[in-house]
Amino acid sequence: MKAEIISVGTELILGNILNTNTYYLSKRLWEIGIEVLYHTSIKDEPKFLEEALNIALGRADLLIFTGGLGPTSDDMTKEVICKTLGIDMELNKEAEKDIKDYFYSLNRPMSGNNIKQAYLPKGAQYLINEIGTAPGVYIENSGKKIIMLPGPPKEMKLMFNKYVIPLIKQDYIIKVQTINTIGIGESSLETILMDLTSSKNPTIATYPKEGQVDIKLVAKGYDEDKVDCLLKEMKERISGRISEYIYSYKDEKIEEVIVNKLKRKKLKIAICESCTGGLITSKLTKIPGVSEVLERGIVTYSNKSKVEEVNVNKTTLDKYGAVSEEVALEMAQGILEKAGVDIAVSTTGIAGPTGGSNKKPIGLVYIGIATRNSSYAIKSIFKGDRESIQNRAALKAFDELRKIL
Ligand code: AMP
Ligand code: MG
Repeated sequence: MKAEIISVGTELILGNILNTNTYYLSKRLWEIGIEVLYHTSIKDEPKFLEEALNIALGRADLLIFTGGLGPTSDDMTKEVICKTLGIDMELNKEAEKDIKDYFYSLNRPMSGNNIKQAYLPKGAQYLINEIGTAPGVYIENSGKKIIMLPGPPKEMKLMFNKYVIPLIKQDYIIKVQTINTIGIGESSLETILMDLTSSKNPTIATYPKEGQVDIKLVAKGYDEDKVDCLLKEMKERISGRISEYIYSYKDEKIEEVIVNKLKRKKLKIAICESCTGGLITSKLTKIPGVSEVLERGIVTYSNKSKVEEVNVNKTTLDKYGAVSEEVALEMAQGILEKAGVDIAVSTTGIAGPTGGSNKKPIGLVYIGIATRNSSYAIKSIFKGDRESIQNRAALKAFDELRKIL
């Protein structure tokens, strides 16, 4: 079944609000095996609506409209669709009662124009809106399924999940397997996987994010076991080639993986940050339950604080400078001792846009790792603006942690 999502609302076209309905519906439809082929957004004007309807009827089997079901005169999705398809509208007693009850429950008077919302296309299935006044509509017309849902995302989602899914669900299955990688660029990945990327089932796509690439395998079919098998086979082939870069198969963030590994191994961690300004600690603290493993995170930005807080030697600072392998190492070792933890991480670098030199360019970052048995620091040079250098440094630190955990 080929689907098209049509969002109705001038505010979407003007960029006043983000079209989150289309995003949500596309994701959900994929999950239940329905292929979305087109997204259309239009103004609240009959001629555009009529045009969009006719085009969609020519290329899709399932049309989902959102928006334009409100009580005001610019809301006319139902009216225009009925007129274009030659369907009369009639008062739906059940919808009328629900709208009246809705106002009664809020202890508010119902305005006259709300009754307009209870008029539905003749022969349509009424989709109840439990948290708003605009009823949804389901009609079948010349073999096409047409669904109208209200614009407010909360109402739309609830109605889609509760009433629309049972109406459109089919046997066809689409499943997605994510492979999260770090430490390898998209083009290198593509080169390694070159011969696999032309696969039709599952399809393979790479999605680069800053410093990371997600690989998505999408398999389709009618038999769930077969679909699972296709995914599993491809997952194993890919893993065989790039295992050292894979940190998860669960579509999760690397910091989640780190926290879970620390928990499993019952290890405590402490962080001492300079150029990342608390970003590593902040990312860790977003993971529920991190208090079990995170002992402390401190920001030692000045030289003075590096000496006072984590016992970096003043002579090391004078001799090598704050951005150096030696200082990164002493920061990590210093906080390891001070916090009495099993593992410590430090960062020191030049995030820019000023402060770089020939010897120490912008983007130069040292990451220190200290454990009870060994300590080391690694040098990286990241490209990008201040924010991306900080982000990449944090990711690199997580990548190092992943390797030693
Ligand atoms: P409507 O059903 O057209 O009266 O829409 C009511 C409200 O829902 C609008 O004012 C928007 O705030 C919101 N809305 C409508 N369409 C969308 C959409 N595609 N994505 C997100 N919000 C929307
Ligand atoms: Mg509207």
